Amino acid sequence: MSSELANKIQREINEWKEAFQDDYFNLDDPWVRRFNFKSDDEWIVTCQADLDYSESYETKVSITIPKSYPTGEHICIVAEESHDIPGENIQEVLSQVFHMMKVQREKFLEEIPTPTPGTSHGHGDHIFGGDDDMADEEAVFIDDSSMEDDEKRKRFESIEHDLTVVRKTKGWLGCRGASGMDQIKVYLFTNPNRLNITPLLAEAWQLDLEKWICITITFSNYYTESATKPVVEAFQCGDVSIRDAYSLIDNGKVKFGLYWTVQQRLERDFFAIYWPIEQYRNTLQPKTGKNYMEYLLEYTESIIKTSPSKCLICGNKLPLEGIKPMCCESPLCIFSHEQYGLGIDLESAIKKNPDVVDLFVSVCYAASVSYVNRGFNPFQPFPSNLEIKLRDKTSGQVKTYNFLTNDGKDDNAKVREVLDKVPNLKILEEWVDEGKLKERCDEKHPLVYPLLRWILASARVHMKKLVGKEQLSEMKTDHQYILLSSTPDKERRFQELKKKYGSILAFHGSALGNWHSIMRKGLLNLSNTGGMVNGAAYGAGVYLAGNANVSFGYMRYQSGWNNSITFKSNQIGCLALCEILKAPELIQKYGDKMTPNPYFVIPNEEHLQTRAFFIYTTNQNHSVEGKDLKLPNVSFN
Ligand SMILES: [Zn+2]
Repeated sequence: MSSELANKIQREINEWKEAFQDDYFNLDDPWVRRFNFKSDDEWIVTCQADLDYSESYETKVSITIPKSYPTGEHICIVAEESHDIPGENIQEVLSQVFHMMKVQREKFLEEIPTPTPGTSHGHGDHIFGGDDDMADEEAVFIDDSSMEDDEKRKRFESIEHDLTVVRKTKGWLGCRGASGMDQIKVYLFTNPNRLNITPLLAEAWQLDLEKWICITITFSNYYTESATKPVVEAFQCGDVSIRDAYSLIDNGKVKFGLYWTVQQRLERDFFAIYWPIEQYRNTLQPKTGKNYMEYLLEYTESIIKTSPSKCLICGNKLPLEGIKPMCCESPLCIFSHEQYGLGIDLESAIKKNPDVVDLFVSVCYAASVSYVNRGFNPFQPFPSNLEIKLRDKTSGQVKTYNFLTNDGKDDNAKVREVLDKVPNLKILEEWVDEGKLKERCDEKHPLVYPLLRWILASARVHMKKLVGKEQLSEMKTDHQYILLSSTPDKERRFQELKKKYGSILAFHGSALGNWHSIMRKGLLNLSNTGGMVNGAAYGAGVYLAGNANVSFGYMRYQSGWNNSITFKSNQIGCLALCEILKAPELIQKYGDKMTPNPYFVIPNEEHLQTRAFFIYTTNQNHSVEGKDLKLPNVSFN
């Protein structure tokens, strides 16, 4: 009964808000925000208002609706003062309260004092204030100060104008934050769905598609200080269904995978060029067709979109593009990457995808035991630049921990020793729950935590466990994963060509230890190096089989990591399911029906995408034709 009444009230409030949209809510510079109706214990409408043009919205408003509604008294409190507002229903009460506030606001504006040295916030206060000897200068100062305030006001207006245009674009929001005349704080929001990325990709980038991406820029409004570049903050907040920029401010702020990179690129690159604002406000528009704030938002989106091809830290182009952002191999970048905890969130990876973490560690372990043949170490890339320096508390001496031999060569055995100290995933999960993952890892060995982070952060693929009906029953294993490795751009090109040519599915089997490198350097790179165990009898390229049974033979079952829970066996074999384009070059080689001869050899990486990954813990011998399989039902682009 009472919830029915609450719903009725909610409808009346919505109706009222709709009717007064243009008067109070949809203004270019709205003075009411956080308008909200709560209907649990109490039925109460609340909002915050800016009645003194301070932009701090410090006037709190609440209207408590009687449970005997529509009879009974509404309790209206504005700025901690109770007001007696008569009204037949909530709509009338709201109208009266808002009208009262509007009148108060107008009255305030009439009484606002013109700037004088005493009330001004200009530099003059500090330089001249209270200095009698300078009395003669005061006349000059007054002019100067009001001019300065004019200047400031103009700047507010021009930014406000830009933001009004921003709000007209779908998926963008923008507003000025609460700040005085001396500081400007701008909030810009972009809906991550504008990036046009799949849920899988968003997951790989640690981006929440349900939340706004927010950029705040804060800078001084002193004309003379406009050379001081803005401070940028990047984060995600508020549900994308919320379309009121003011309600988004401080609404559940969280970090996202690229927050640091976005902040750095804007501060170091964007504002290194496009600053101060007033210098670029008029030149950007004719050149780009965008105003300053629009251009800033587009720039931010492009930082995110191009992130997989550039180092997270220094921004240099990575030698190999992958699905997710990472840092380059420069020791300085690796150091910062560790220090800021960027790229991956080890704690949440352990909690959300323990199987995948177990798999990556197992594969890395297998790489560290694989045979170094004629100087070729299949353990590539190697954590050569991971280093921890610790000062011994008793002796005061600094000790260095790394994975190198005394003469600076990669030492597989050292990695193995550290991985042997990593406990199983159940225990790691408990440590995360305790909130002491790093502490506990450090107790085991100073390199345990950095190595785990490196293993996950250096992987250029994204994996997601397939469960239940998502699985391909023909493959006869419970360990099935989506395996994505290409950039969104490559995927898009692939999908375009697929529409034209069509595609088929085929298999690639390789020893467990090889997958460490494949997952970081791609299939083709491994095929063209000393890592190719099986020769290149049919030419250079990635070798794939039409039938899984052929690929099973190349899995070369081996044992993995001793502490693995999921992959505990001395007969682990891994197989990837790939999608191949029926491109003209390949049709020429394999015929219209794409018959392997006896393999498919794909020299061009553009013609190939990894799709799924299967792990076996026992010897396999059964026939599965790639052409009989269907891809797992997920969207790849
Ligand atoms: Zn770098």
